[in-house]
Amino acid sequence: MKNYGKLYIDGSWHVPASNDLIEVVNPATEAVVGTVPAGNAEDVKAAALAAGNALPGWSTTSPEIRAGYLKRIHEALVVRGPELAELITSELGMPIKLSQRIQAGLPAVVLASYVKLLEDYPFSEHIGNSLVLKEPVGVVAAITPWNYPLHQLMIKVAAALAAGCTVIAKPSELTPLNAFVLAEIIDSSDLPPGVFNLLSGEGDVVGEPLVSDEGVDMVSFTGSTRVGKRISILAAQSVKRVALELGGKSAAILLPDADFETAVKATISNCFLNSGQTCSAHTRMLIPAETYEMVVPLVCQYAASFVPENPLDAQTRIGPLISAQQRERVLDYIRSGLAEGAEILVGGVDPPEGLPLGYYVRPTVFGRVTREMKIAREEIFGPVLSIMTYRDEDEAVAIANDSIYGLAGGIWSADEERAAQLARRLKTGQVDINGGRFNPLAPFGGYKQSGNGRELGRYGLEEFLQTKSLQF
Ligand code: NAD
Repeated sequence: MKNYGKLYIDGSWHVPASNDLIEVVNPATEAVVGTVPAGNAEDVKAAALAAGNALPGWSTTSPEIRAGYLKRIHEALVVRGPELAELITSELGMPIKLSQRIQAGLPAVVLASYVKLLEDYPFSEHIGNSLVLKEPVGVVAAITPWNYPLHQLMIKVAAALAAGCTVIAKPSELTPLNAFVLAEIIDSSDLPPGVFNLLSGEGDVVGEPLVSDEGVDMVSFTGSTRVGKRISILAAQSVKRVALELGGKSAAILLPDADFETAVKATISNCFLNSGQTCSAHTRMLIPAETYEMVVPLVCQYAASFVPENPLDAQTRIGPLISAQQRERVLDYIRSGLAEGAEILVGGVDPPEGLPLGYYVRPTVFGRVTREMKIAREEIFGPVLSIMTYRDEDEAVAIANDSIYGLAGGIWSADEERAAQLARRLKTGQVDINGGRFNPLAPFGGYKQSGNGRELGRYGLEEFLQTKSLQF
């Protein structure tokens, strides 16, 4: 059990305004694995005051000094990596092998990328008779979801601190424990008091006063489109900067000349990663109509190799969903696919065998999905893949773009140039060509209702900077 009774505010562990606690549940065992304080509006005020007081000092440190702190935090993060991987698996249910690489490994990679970026990022430049300065936005509220909890937090914290901003982090109430480990690490790095603050609590109780607080200059939010809209409305009252990383319904297009075996396997792996709880998951697989009969056996064979099991076993590829509520939502989508006439190829609504506890569902693939079906339009956030067919490239693009979302996508073709041309027609922030691997320096973010702004690398740093020009 990991029990945290205090919040991290102004460089020390702070007694919360209320004694209420939030229980963190392991989704594989349904057992409580830890508790954190249920913060409230009074705690928000204390954090905003601390972050505001720390801003004049931190925002005027040199990039070298800031890089030095980030480097120290990185070193401690790497040391605690194995512990963090286990902790996140216990909060989230992601298989341990993947947690080690992604949940614990990626935040360290991202943090290191900002240490490096600070070596030569131009915080000023001359344009004609002007000196253009890049200055930190100010106090940043970083509000994050549960699916890649430390990664999503680190993307914001690393970039904001590198920019010279001070931060108030508000992780998801479902997976907050890893953020407390991060606070312990930051505490041991001797970062000046108030530069990083951690609040835990429910979105409406802590998130809303945080977004509305006059002392907060910017909200960087990752989460659902529904909450992103609410945050935009609240933040508009004080004209705060808002960066939003929201939901997705991404399409992988397999062109007729693609290596179908590789493309099918990669798309299924991508869709089922983290039990389908990935914002950028390729959840629609678009194939030429004439290949459907050839693709179905490939899909059935490979999808059947994803058998839900205990996430702590080293060979497990897919674990449970985050909560009983999420399992119900996903089962409702599977029921809706069946009711709307999609062809079920793998999975279904029956519980997986041999798992009496835990929020597991069967990884599911639907064939013959059409554009109007709910499973083709809405973000399911579970291991459910929809196969759709197209007649020509124009139709493939039209189907891919027929979404309120525009976060990611994929194109598979033997001809990279043809794939890149097609990628230009997709209204999404990222497109992977032939399974191109994740690049922690490439901008990540959405078109349309997938959000505003970009994270990672130089673009991620610039989210937290504002521009001033001096004329001579
Ligand atoms: P969520 O929107 O319910 O919650 C996200 C965070 O917002 C949590 O910390 C929550 O406490 C807080 N929150 C909730 N209501 C709030 C309010 N009224 N005011 C302020 N804060 C509030 O999302 P979730 O269920 O935790 O995460 C899943 C969603 O996140 C999915 O839609 C997914 O696509 C999206 N997501 C997007 C990205 C991306 O980079 N685009 C990455 C991961 C997840």
